[in-house]
Amino acid sequence: MKNNRQKILILHPLYIDVNCRINKCFMEYALVTGGSRGIGRAIAVLLARNGFKVIVNYHANDREAQKTLSLITQDGGVAELLKFNVADNNACMAAIDNWQQLHPDDYISVLVNNAGIRSDELMALMDVSDFERVIQNNLLSFFYLTRLLIPQMVRHRNGRIVNIASLSGLKGVAGQTNYAASKGGLIAATKSLAQELAKKKITVNAVAPGFIRTDMVEGLDEMSLKQMIPMARFGEPEEVASLVNFLVSKEASYITGECININGGLYS
Ligand code: NAP
Repeated sequence: MKNNRQKILILHPLYIDVNCRINKCFMEYALVTGGSRGIGRAIAVLLARNGFKVIVNYHANDREAQKTLSLITQDGGVAELLKFNVADNNACMAAIDNWQQLHPDDYISVLVNNAGIRSDELMALMDVSDFERVIQNNLLSFFYLTRLLIPQMVRHRNGRIVNIASLSGLKGVAGQTNYAASKGGLIAATKSLAQELAKKKITVNAVAPGFIRTDMVEGLDEMSLKQMIPMARFGEPEEVASLVNFLVSKEASYITGECININGGLYS
């Protein structure tokens, strides 16, 4: 039994700091790419609410990123913004290197590869640059960023990687050969990486949303699309966030290499 003086000493920040250094305990962070808007914002907010220190990545939209940060801090959570282009390998390396230098005693134990774009067109009419850009943003970004964080996760024998794929990557959608290829590739890479990292206590899973109400689906004919969905509605970003939140939790420790659908019954 510890007396009151000992209890107070243990809670003192200096004691925690020194003790952390001696026993090499590290702060764990969750990095959510594309956290300024839509699904990424909902994930960042929920992970912060559940105690993670969240790094909110985004590309360009400072105002929306700031809004995500405010939502988290107003809720009592801890977060920081990290602006970089996930489709640029050098930018990924510089961002992670800088972050690690500023946080020598911390590591990123949760990575949610969420940032993504679409650029739809029938393949016969599609520009080469549109195909390449979507693959770069949605698939190569996964490789650029994830490989940088694996060594620390392995060192700590602890990690969760969740890749936001899409129904399109499983089923295929006309007008989305580029997007479907990027998400299908992401699902296959998820399964392979899960096998590489399983023994290191790192899980790697994918989530495949159907239609979720965000900026990405703006301009789609929701009224007619809803008729194809058994639940007769688009999903909400918070519903995808709940699934991601479960996959990064300790309760999901035996789930790896999966791609989980979240689409209101549209496809299974
Ligand atoms: P969204 O509302 O368009 O938001 C996209 C987010 O990704 C923004 O935060 C954006 O940052 C960020 N981003 C885009 N390119 C980036 C880059 N190169 N580097 C860093 N950040 C980048 O999209 P969403 O609907 O939430 O989609 C999130 C993920 O879910 C995507 O991977 C998407 O493919 C997938 N998904 C969405 C749906 C759906 O129906 N919405 C369905 C299936 C799958 P800025 O704000 O700075 O631009």
